[in-house]
Amino acid sequence: MAEVMMKEFINNNTKTSWGDCIGLSSTAEKLKEAITYPLIYPDLFRDTRTWRGILLFGPPGTGKTLLAKALASEGCTFINVTSSTFISKWRGESEKMVKVLFDLAKKHAPTTIFIDEVDALMSTVNQHEASRRFKSELLTQIDGIQGSTDHVFVLGSTNVPWNLDTAMLRRFEKRIYVPLPDDIARVQLLKLYINGPNSLEDKEWFKLGGMIENFSGSDIKCLSIEVKMRVIREKIKEIDAKGTNRAGHNLRKVTLKDVEDSLAKIRPCVTCVDVKRFEEWNEKFGSY
Ligand code: ADP
Repeated sequence: MAEVMMKEFINNNTKTSWGDCIGLSSTAEKLKEAITYPLIYPDLFRDTRTWRGILLFGPPGTGKTLLAKALASEGCTFINVTSSTFISKWRGESEKMVKVLFDLAKKHAPTTIFIDEVDALMSTVNQHEASRRFKSELLTQIDGIQGSTDHVFVLGSTNVPWNLDTAMLRRFEKRIYVPLPDDIARVQLLKLYINGPNSLEDKEWFKLGGMIENFSGSDIKCLSIEVKMRVIREKIKEIDAKGTNRAGHNLRKVTLKDVEDSLAKIRPCVTCVDVKRFEEWNEKFGSY
């Protein structure tokens, strides 16, 4: 079992760094405090046990998984478990697998177990038998690492924190809000993802940043693909109309109008109402 798990889940080869997580430096700092610094400065943390259960919550596409990937390149063993896959793959045996998972984590410590979509497991609404058994074993195992000196951390991620039940919430001692990008981050993300030749000036980038207020990093990435596709589509039409050679063509620069027109097609996944709900949940349950 352990061998299968090693192959499936252990993943230390992400090439993501903290710098790739745009606008998330203060969130990254909180993760480093909990997980990285105790490993780099063991003497300073001799009498202090940091949080063993950490929850990243926020709207979808804001970089929670990206942060986890950056953490994975920090030199501790990184076990990446998507809860729905875990349950469906080992239905019936999933609780046994949780034990193996934590044994493996201890053996290869320092280890971070990243549980993406933790709500799928821990939700108050999803209560079928396999999930229930998995869940109770997971809670027991987390209790185990909280009382131990092993450097094993559980990092959960969710877009629907209000679906987590109180037993699980209590195990996530540190709950970190990963919000939508702010004005500056939105402009940085646009520049990052519209990375080719363009005619946009500073004030135009900022104007665009103001027009995509509820966009997540992932929405901005989608928008940028649409923007670049407009230029490509236009070129393909031109080449087909002329009937010229298919190779050796250059694309024109992206303009402000390309982005504005694309905005008419791409809508963000999150509404103001959703944002308010996250903020309220953060007020009640988030850590600072
Ligand atoms: P989440 O886990 O919060 O739902 P992800 O981390 O999977 O979101 O983000 C999806 C994709 O969107 C990422 O792979 C990345 O390309 C882009 N993205 C989202 N947020 C950011 C960000 N803050 N900085 C850079 N890219 C981002």
